Amino acid sequence: MISDDCEHRIEVNNLKHGEIVQHTLLLIKGHIRQLRPLKKCVEQQIHLHVKYNSSLESTPWELEQQSQISRNGQFKLLCDLGQHVPVTGNYRKLPLQLHFCYCNSVLHIEILYECPTNNYLLQALYIKCSNQHTKDEEVRACFDKINLNLRLVQSVYADQLRAAAYGRSTFTLNGDCKVFETQLTCEEVWQLNEESLWQNFAEEILNSSAWGGEDKLKFVAFIGCTKYDAAAIAASGDFSYANIRRNLKGHAALGGGGLALFGAAYLYAWPRYCKDINAYFGSTEKVDPTQLPDDSNYRCTYGGVYATTLGAVVHEIGHTFDLGHTIDGVMGNGFDYINRVFTIDNLTEHLPDRVIERTAHALNVQVAERPRFTQLKRSTNKFLEKYHEQKTSDPFYFTRNCAIILAHNKWFKNCRTNGDVFDLATVETLLKYDPADKCVISGESKHALCLIEVRTVDKSLVKYWYEPSKSDSLIYKFHLPQEAIEALEKDHYLFVLTRSGVAKRLCEPRNC
Ligand SMILES: [Zn+2]
Ligand SMILES: [Zn+2]
Repeated sequence: MISDDCEHRIEVNNLKHGEIVQHTLLLIKGHIRQLRPLKKCVEQQIHLHVKYNSSLESTPWELEQQSQISRNGQFKLLCDLGQHVPVTGNYRKLPLQLHFCYCNSVLHIEILYECPTNNYLLQALYIKCSNQHTKDEEVRACFDKINLNLRLVQSVYADQLRAAAYGRSTFTLNGDCKVFETQLTCEEVWQLNEESLWQNFAEEILNSSAWGGEDKLKFVAFIGCTKYDAAAIAASGDFSYANIRRNLKGHAALGGGGLALFGAAYLYAWPRYCKDINAYFGSTEKVDPTQLPDDSNYRCTYGGVYATTLGAVVHEIGHTFDLGHTIDGVMGNGFDYINRVFTIDNLTEHLPDRVIERTAHALNVQVAERPRFTQLKRSTNKFLEKYHEQKTSDPFYFTRNCAIILAHNKWFKNCRTNGDVFDLATVETLLKYDPADKCVISGESKHALCLIEVRTVDKSLVKYWYEPSKSDSLIYKFHLPQEAIEALEKDHYLFVLTRSGVAKRLCEPRNC
């Protein structure tokens, strides 16, 4: 309904005119400002019309999207460009016209979609056992869910790095999910714990003819035969997370090195189609633990399971890109809250904090780290604290040290700007810790120090971090503050990053 009395302004908060987008799911966040606040407008939706129309291209296309307006005027629109834009191919920019319309106000923005050109890619795999008999239709549904939701994770990374002032930078997917046939039988997979599953599949992938030679690929893999013993749970009457986890076989949520590994059991809570994403996050339907496993950090809803298990994918993929743990944000207590990135009018959620735990196993495959989470019981009620925290900020974000690491990672940089390739020998000798002088040294002028983290050995929890080159002068030698020197004496190590993107662990207890 259009009223002549209305006066509004449409504001888009996370996209500017001329911005380049290299991913196919685009979350647009904005506000409707009421310029005559005394008058209440009856219009409840904003409409977006996206159009691509160029004389150079054969098929023009357009898409329509709507969003509700929240109580304070916020809107969020999720656009799927994937059907329309080329996802691979030569470097070129396609102009997209975005036409927003609310009541009697309009806003026009033009952005540029560009095919990603990074050579470092993330490959999705569906792990299938030699004797696995999942119906074809069920496998197809899994593939669709994995493909859609990894594009969503890709978009989340882009949006988060943009918010951290590093531009709309994200990883690139190497096409769609592919089947990986393991030598193991389902029965063998069900016998193995999370760590052993990770170890086995990492080795199998690295030794396979299809993927073995690929040093520019990291993998996100889903185990197809994850099995939930619902009958055992029903018989026990124990619906705690620990018991649910015990009765979930062939399951993992573990990332590090070149592999993030998950079980497929929770895909039941994931949407298959983009149009359903919002409704799935918002679902308050209760999960019946005598039928399906529940991992929702005690929300016990389909929406909660979707948020926790997708948030875990963002978190574990973060480990494969060298991120350690932080108290807050995606790499800490914040990863359950990914739903809030997409929904409006969010109620306060008070979920139990998580503690980080690492299991110590000898590693044969070279990996950076494989920390993981376990859950704590609900502790003291901090609802008010959470209320204020969530009202003023979004708990789902990368802390600055994490954003710095991602922004300098080869998987996030566009190859047109990261032509430098460093040989392993250079990387090996470049960064050093001088125990006499208590300083970190970079041996070459083009590798100025960019970030130094002090992490705990057991949980890879970042205790202190420093950004030595924040000022304009380039720094090749960084003297550790006293707090860091003391921490290194008791079960901490250093994670050092250069501006050129070289990352290394120093002072690990066994060699320092
Ligand atoms: Zn109006
Ligand atoms: Zn972790």
